[in-house]
Amino acid sequence: MDFTTTLLSWYEAHARHLPWRGTGNPYHVWLSEVILQQTRVAQGTAYYFRFLEYFPTIRALADAPLDLVMKCWQGLGYYTRARNLHKAAKLVVAEYGGELPNNYEALRKLPGLGPYAAGAVASFAFNEAVPALDGNGYRVLARVLGIFEIPTKPAGQRIFRERCLELMDRQRPADFNQALIDFGALQCVPSSPRCAECPMNSFCYAYAHAKQHVLPLKETPNALRVRYFHYIILLENNYTYIELRRTKDIWHSLYQFPLIETDAPLTWDELVKNTQFKTLFGKRITLREAVAEKVQKLTHQELHLRFFIVEGKLTATCRAQYERIERVAIHAHQVPISIAKFLASEVAAPYFPTQMQ
Ligand code: SF4
Repeated sequence: MDFTTTLLSWYEAHARHLPWRGTGNPYHVWLSEVILQQTRVAQGTAYYFRFLEYFPTIRALADAPLDLVMKCWQGLGYYTRARNLHKAAKLVVAEYGGELPNNYEALRKLPGLGPYAAGAVASFAFNEAVPALDGNGYRVLARVLGIFEIPTKPAGQRIFRERCLELMDRQRPADFNQALIDFGALQCVPSSPRCAECPMNSFCYAYAHAKQHVLPLKETPNALRVRYFHYIILLENNYTYIELRRTKDIWHSLYQFPLIETDAPLTWDELVKNTQFKTLFGKRITLREAVAEKVQKLTHQELHLRFFIVEGKLTATCRAQYERIERVAIHAHQVPISIAKFLASEVAAPYFPTQMQ
């Protein structure tokens, strides 16, 4: 048996039953693919249903305020995906009357639809014969065919796409692409692939040459960046101060409390001697509560977060730099998940009630 026949017959017996499969609804497919980039199926499924409840159609998504879209996305991370989803929905309404275009080339032009997502929507929803290669697909092809190219590099992508197209069943592109993804997710898994009972083991390159742990080739990982965030929670009667993150960095377009970032952790006594702190907050600030450090791990970063709840006389610099809001209003602002967790903590909750007492 050849690769394609083996893959499709395995798929007929083992396909995963996912809520967005077989709906024939391009919006559902698109939504699921955007959510599942960087997110596990188990976590993403709840968000998928939440989005469909709030925004049942592309038009409903396009008409919704960005704030609501971001709020629904809160906790999924990689917030650019949500902004692009909203931007693309507006474009689909403006240029295509609210229906997704039915081909890969047009889908690729929408914000946030890279080669994988555009290929997934084009093949799953419109049965167009184009590759939809995610990490699972790359792994299966690299191992079975013995492809020694890095799939994330442009040259590697070209070769993987060519090989995928050569093997694709042109009558069943949706099944072929979904089968590759499921085969990688269930059978040819990253570590300890189930080779002994694999239907491909008679012609699999990696199995024959014991290269399962070498393929697919990976780029040298970036060094881990360790950052220390010291959040200053200013209390002024019923008010507090926040700012919008505008720099090209994590958490772009989310709100945060005034932040002092350093290369090493600082205690409160060290923090008040920090030059940036002195410029922003002066000397007449007193500490009310310090929260124990929390660590958040991102793909290439490790964040050490400390929250200091303070009060006192604010400087003019501080007033000019930050936005003053009622403390209850913080809950209507989109904040990173670490700040949302802080706000819900026992220490912070009394200072930030959901309703004015
Ligand atoms: S034999 Fe092993 S490495 Fe090859 S496709 Fe099957 S599970 Fe993957």
